[in-house]
Amino acid sequence: MIPAPFDYAAPDTLDEAIRLLNEGGDEAKLLAGGHSLLPLMKLRLATPSLLVDLRKVQGLDGVERSNGGWRIGALTPHATLERSPDLGVLARAAGTIADPQVRNRGTIGGSLAHGDPAADLPAVLLIAEGSVTLRGPGGERTVAAGELFQDYLQTAVGADEVLTEVQIPALDGWGSGYQKFNRRSEDWAMVAVAAVVKRVSGDIEDVRVGLTNMGSVPLRARAVEEALRGQPASAESIVGAAAQAAEGTDPPGDLNASAEYKRHLARVLTKRALEEAVGLT
Ligand SMILES: Cc1cc2nc3c(=O)[nH]c(=O)nc-3n(C[C@H](O)[C@H](O)[C@H](O)COP(=O)(O)OP(=O)(O)OC[C@H]3O[C@@H](n4cnc5c(N)ncnc54)[C@H](O)[C@@H]3O)c2cc1C
Repeated sequence: MIPAPFDYAAPDTLDEAIRLLNEGGDEAKLLAGGHSLLPLMKLRLATPSLLVDLRKVQGLDGVERSNGGWRIGALTPHATLERSPDLGVLARAAGTIADPQVRNRGTIGGSLAHGDPAADLPAVLLIAEGSVTLRGPGGERTVAAGELFQDYLQTAVGADEVLTEVQIPALDGWGSGYQKFNRRSEDWAMVAVAAVVKRVSGDIEDVRVGLTNMGSVPLRARAVEEALRGQPASAESIVGAAAQAAEGTDPPGDLNASAEYKRHLARVLTKRALEEAVGLT
């Protein structure tokens, strides 16, 4: 439970952080809230020789409405998201993360860059069709949510890049639901489902459903979305569509749940999340 020795730097500027990361190469790691990285270091599953702490870098924290969407600084802690109900399903999901201590320290940027398939925020970014800004020695680039999550704990964030900001379309007027199943209330999700629904006079005009922990990356439940688009926002349509929630998924079994149980959870939670999103609960 004691990390391997490492050097530590807390630069004042983003440019300095990027320079240190670049010089450190694969041996250097950014530190944000530390609530994913430090446990890995204590287990010696990660052994960086340099930690570059972002805590003194100004301008990376906060939630701002801009151009029909939200700009969220990478260092914004989960607790701030939880207390921003205008963020809709993102606020709901953030409020289910672990306990107040983790929510006060863990950051949206750290969670998205880390790419844990059991984390709550990645599937929400996916269904919001949001994006992130990455800054490295060569400048800035924007990566869409669909391109960000590449494999288990692997994201498009380069070793010398800092995720600086998250952009989320506002989805004004859409209903939303979030359902997470775990053994104890503060645990990681065995499976979680995020849903957003746009209704027009009783019918579902558009719908997006995101699955957490149903594979090595967060997934869209495309079969459910296709089955529901254009249908009445009724219990019957939702039951029929939710039955397809596990289609195309291949979740790994783990200590908490077999693959088949996860598929069952995906179907049940999708039904509940959609019912919540259309106001049937
Ligand atoms: C007991 C416990 C329970 C938890 N339960 C949940 C849960 O239920 N749901 C959930 O979603 N999460 C859970 N978490 C994880 C928590 O949300 C983490 O805080 C989060 O996943 C990582 O954010 P962080 O700011 O702590 O990142 P860190 O741990 O500091 O960093 C994580 C990784 O991302 C990199 N990184 C960090 N910031 C950036 C950046 N701006 N740009 C580029 N790379 C960056 C780091 O180098 C590191 O590789 C739990 C954690 C603990 C300790």
